[in-house]
Amino acid sequence: MEIRLAENYGFCFGVKRAIEIAEESKNAFTYGPLIHNREEINRLQENFNVTTAHELDELKKTDRVIIRTHGIVKNELETLQKSGKEIIDATCPFVTKPQEIVEEMSKEGYKIVIFGDEKHPEVKGVKSYAVNEPLVVMDVAELENVYLGPKVAVVSQTTRKVKEFMKIINYLVENVKEVRVFNTICNATFENQEAADKLSKEADVMVVIGGKNSSNTKQLFSIVKSNCADSYHIEVPEELQPEWFTGKKLCGVTAGASTPDWIIQNVIEKIRNISV
Ligand code: SF4
Repeated sequence: MEIRLAENYGFCFGVKRAIEIAEESKNAFTYGPLIHNREEINRLQENFNVTTAHELDELKKTDRVIIRTHGIVKNELETLQKSGKEIIDATCPFVTKPQEIVEEMSKEGYKIVIFGDEKHPEVKGVKSYAVNEPLVVMDVAELENVYLGPKVAVVSQTTRKVKEFMKIINYLVENVKEVRVFNTICNATFENQEAADKLSKEADVMVVIGGKNSSNTKQLFSIVKSNCADSYHIEVPEELQPEWFTGKKLCGVTAGASTPDWIIQNVIEKIRNISV
């Protein structure tokens, strides 16, 4: 069986940058998990003493705090700044951008629409920068029967699909006089999605590697599953089952933006061993 990696996969620019910042910082806390990958979080803790704090009150005044790639809620950032702790900002610049847009556009009186998952930390952070109450939606149905006013500015969670964002935009353009559209979908996600789509059309089994709570890995999985029925989402090589590969000719492999290379290589190695 041939094992083929997608043309683009795995760590994106923002995650690489955050990990480098964490490794250089050493002996620090991250407020919330730095990235959505448990194995990498454990490695940072063991090798660099970078520990995850889940609540602000777990942190002492003298602690150094790394802000994660997804960013945090504005008033929590202000609380941290006022507390005198050293803050090391690893927020991805592609996440800082929608935060800035939402702040600026809401100050200019635009109703803010955020396309994304309200419960996701990135969206919570972006939403917190609005000076009026933004609307967070996952689909067009959530916009229907809502009074949007004369002018709307719309951004997307970085990991959403362009096609789905377009549906929101089309609805807004049809129903609101002035619509400002900011395509805040991250290219890294887009490139990984395109490559996964292409590979899963050829493969007869697909393995998607990434955190079970990683939004962009779940997106990748949904794309490949629509092309290849035998698709599996795993976090670690131990989850691989030999029967997945029986009689298969081409195994496609891809990985979410927060999956480190060493895990990807371990998975490929294990597939190679169990498929011979
Ligand atoms: S997926 Fe994009 S937005 Fe998210 S951390 Fe990576 S580069 Fe930044």
